[in-house]
Amino acid sequence: MKFFKKLTSGCGQLSLNCREAVRAQSDQLDRKLPFATRLGLWLHLLICKWCRRYAQQTAFLRQAAGEHPEKFTESGPQKLSPAARERIKQRLDEFSE
Ligand SMILES: [Zn+2]
Repeated sequence: MKFFKKLTSGCGQLSLNCREAVRAQSDQLDRKLPFATRLGLWLHLLICKWCRRYAQQTAFLRQAAGEHPEKFTESGPQKLSPAARERIKQRLDEFSE
C-alpha cells in the first residue's frame, strides 16, 4: 500500500479525491471518460477502500439491474421486493472486510 500512496502522490493532480472518484464512476456509465480521468479513478480505487467498495456496489447493482430490468424503475432500488433487497444486502455484506 505504501507503494501506491507514493505512486499516487507522485502523480499529483492525476489522483482524484473521493468526490471526484464517485462522480467519475457515474459519469463513465454515460460516456467514455478521458484517459487521464480513468487513470486517476483507477489510482484512487487502488488506495481508497471506500470508493472501491462503492465501485463494487454500483457494479453489482448495475449487474442486478441488467438481470432484472423490470425491477428497476426511475426511482431505483427502493422498489425492490424485500426478498430482493435482502439478497442484495447479503451480497454487499460479502464485500465488507
Ligand atoms: Zn475515495
